[in-house]
Amino acid sequence: MTDTPIDAAIIGAGVAGSAVTLALAARAPAGFRTLIFDRAEPGPGTAYAPQSASLLLNGPVRAMSMMPDDERHFERWLVDEPSDALICRARYGAYARATVASALASRADFRHVRDEVVDLQRRDDNGYALTTHRGERFVARKVVLALGNFAPASHFLPETLQKFPGYFGDPWRVDVAPFENRDVVVIGSRLTAMDVVALLDERAFRGRVHLVSRHALIPRVEDPRVRGADPAKLGLDTSTPYALLRSMRRAAETFPGDWRSLVDSVRPMTPAIWASWSDRERKRFLRHAQAMWAVHRYRVPAATFAAFARLQHEGRVLNHRGRIRRVTVRDSELDVDVSSAAVSQTIRAAYVVNCTGPSCDIRRVDRPLVRNALSNGLLRADSLHLGIDANEEYRILDASGRAQSNLFGIGPLLRGLWYETTAIPEIVKHASSIAAELLREESNMAVAG
Ligand SMILES: Cc1cc2nc3c(=O)[nH]c(=O)nc-3n(C[C@H](O)[C@H](O)[C@H](O)COP(=O)(O)OP(=O)(O)OC[C@H]3O[C@@H](n4cnc5c(N)ncnc54)[C@H](O)[C@@H]3O)c2cc1C
Repeated sequence: MTDTPIDAAIIGAGVAGSAVTLALAARAPAGFRTLIFDRAEPGPGTAYAPQSASLLLNGPVRAMSMMPDDERHFERWLVDEPSDALICRARYGAYARATVASALASRADFRHVRDEVVDLQRRDDNGYALTTHRGERFVARKVVLALGNFAPASHFLPETLQKFPGYFGDPWRVDVAPFENRDVVVIGSRLTAMDVVALLDERAFRGRVHLVSRHALIPRVEDPRVRGADPAKLGLDTSTPYALLRSMRRAAETFPGDWRSLVDSVRPMTPAIWASWSDRERKRFLRHAQAMWAVHRYRVPAATFAAFARLQHEGRVLNHRGRIRRVTVRDSELDVDVSSAAVSQTIRAAYVVNCTGPSCDIRRVDRPLVRNALSNGLLRADSLHLGIDANEEYRILDASGRAQSNLFGIGPLLRGLWYETTAIPEIVKHASSIAAELLREESNMAVAG
């Protein structure tokens, strides 16, 4: 272990950790030692690493710059794409990789450590000791957790299914090539399920895909030309989830533009609305409105939807409403029993992909750093189990509810705090604010000096 502490440790080098690194590289004084930890190359993270032309961004080029002070940075990097195009995610991954690599190369005091952090301990001086999987140890004055999306939860699925060789628990790393012509069950019907259908279509898959989900709701199609309306002109009542949805319905009756514009008008206000609701109201939203809200807010690119619609028309994608109750192994296949209030049926399939969305409940996340930080009392789940508890300055609360001045969080981990916190525009904004917090002491010292 080196005893001289580094100034900042960023754990996780997906877009969130990379965006903090970029903001720091641009603003930190020379000699501000920063390490970014990840087994993977910094930049693409989970969402933008897969190399498939069928996996598209669901936000337009104009909204995807990684540079908080340069909105057109990505557009210029691409050179040849219109600002409202929904391009391939792999290309965004290339942009993220190149952008952060160039920032790292420009700073002698910044470095990528290609390893996973498995343990974090608070020190008496309010810094942190980090241990990596390979056993390297570091001391950091400040730490940012940018751990990203965890693979979907599986505890609600029968154990037989989880142990079946054709079960894929991580939909973002699934290789569909071996599926060939055998039937597949996809649990979920939202964006990740649409991605799996698009990947199968790309492979000229000839089997059937059974989507199984509680609501059987399919995301609405994105139109990237549409921009959010000015919420001030809509007179929405945001006091409770019910009031908000009712006033949005009312506004829709006379709204002259596209409905997406109305939905997107709420996006910039979401953290404030979320903060103004009580836990009871938030729970109500999650129970009764979230599924419907999600398919309107998180929309599918038209090209991805076209693959889904074509296969559905050919009878090769079937959308079932219900829950998986039981599975029975039949040699190399499974009988999957699905039932809803209305029907029960058995689907035979050779493969099952879990597309139920990122696991949010950190008590169930089986990753050493999360487990250890929870048992050390450095983290606690937020009251709704959407992520971890933190305050509005991105400072993570410890088990006793005290904000830790030198431990920060960003991205999906902060869902409970902001609700709207996982997409690039929000991540880049938050990264910029966190960098300012990390450097606040530095600038105070410089002024005092
Ligand atoms: C499939 C998918 C598609 C998406 N598409 C879009 C889109 O089109 N537009 C949009 O705006 N948003 C999209 N999103 C939202 C997405 O959450 C963000 O865009 C963004 O990629 C999240 O970045 P992140 O860095 O927080 O997480 P991640 O990309 O998950 O990165 C986290 C990184 O942390 C590393 N890590 C975790 N634990 C440790 C540890 N202990 N030590 C070291 N490293 C660790 C992981 O290896 C990983 O590389 C998408 C999300 C998904 C999952």
